[in-house]
Amino acid sequence: MSRTHRLDLDDQTLREWDAMVLAAGPDGIVLDRSAFYPGGGGQPPDHGVLLWGGVQTRIVDARKSPDDMYLVPLDGDPLPVVGTTVRGAVEDERRTSLMRTHSGLHVLCGVVFRDFGALVTGGNMEPLTARMDFNLEAVPPGFKEAVEDACNAELRLDRQIVVRTLPRAEAFEIPDIIRTATNLVPEDVKDVRIVDIVGLDQQADGGTHVASTSQVGRISVVKIENKGKGFRRIRLAVGS
Ligand SMILES: [Zn+2]
Repeated sequence: MSRTHRLDLDDQTLREWDAMVLAAGPDGIVLDRSAFYPGGGGQPPDHGVLLWGGVQTRIVDARKSPDDMYLVPLDGDPLPVVGTTVRGAVEDERRTSLMRTHSGLHVLCGVVFRDFGALVTGGNMEPLTARMDFNLEAVPPGFKEAVEDACNAELRLDRQIVVRTLPRAEAFEIPDIIRTATNLVPEDVKDVRIVDIVGLDQQADGGTHVASTSQVGRISVVKIENKGKGFRRIRLAVGS
């Protein structure tokens, strides 16, 4: 059980907060409260800064161990000692871009499942660019344009994106809740966080998302790659 309360899970729009240092050493800095997304589910960690005592510690990575979440400072920046009160800030442009990209990927998953019945087998994202892999046997003519048009139609509909946490048994009663081809939710997870693009897509997911699909902007399907039998990679870009 982590000592850090995850403010990013309470409020995905939070960018600044006060916290206390619980540990600081070679592994990184542990705070009592943090809004840094630590990475996971294909979404990379946040960058940001801790302000304290008139100096700054730039945060360039985060790591989760079984019992704690470590914020990794830029090499050479000062380390606050245990007990220091710090002002934390997450770099807004990077995080907001990642939220738009992550929500855009869920729209893509929803569209490809609904219209082509394909499941996700992998994915990766950077701010405003991403790839997602599907187990799709054949690519029908006009697939790239059809996917792009359907995704942008869903963005224009401005569907609400709702996050809720359900007990494991209840979560798994939702049809198609695990939109990936394999069940990635570990056995010991009691509560499952659900990201619901209302009317399109529900997934078990730990990432950060925008509040409605219009906030994603516009999706361009850049490329469809054939990576082998039943393995297609869709590369997309998110713009405005
Ligand atoms: Zn996700």
